[in-house]
Amino acid sequence: MKGKIEISVELCKGCEFCVITCPQKIIVLSDRFNATGYFPAVVTEMAKCTGCAICAEMCPEVAIEVWRDERGQDLGI
Ligand code: SF4
Ligand code: SF4
Repeated sequence: MKGKIEISVELCKGCEFCVITCPQKIIVLSDRFNATGYFPAVVTEMAKCTGCAICAEMCPEVAIEVWRDERGQDLGI
């Protein structure tokens, strides 16, 4: 199963819940702050995303969208 996520930079408050809980360890905080002064989460290696959606479930700001391909095909990211 391949997945991809999209993080809303402006909704993110940099709490790091997604960073800590992603099993693939592919989310980090950016070194550039957003419009409200938080350092938002960004994905380092989208190709490793499984689409497990743990990051989205943990996000208190509902800032993460997840897509997955159940056939295991690469989503082209
Ligand atoms: S969907 Fe799963 S593997 Fe992909 S970034 Fe989120 S927690 Fe990590
Ligand atoms: S869990 Fe949500 S608010 Fe917290 S760092 Fe990740 S995307 Fe940002």
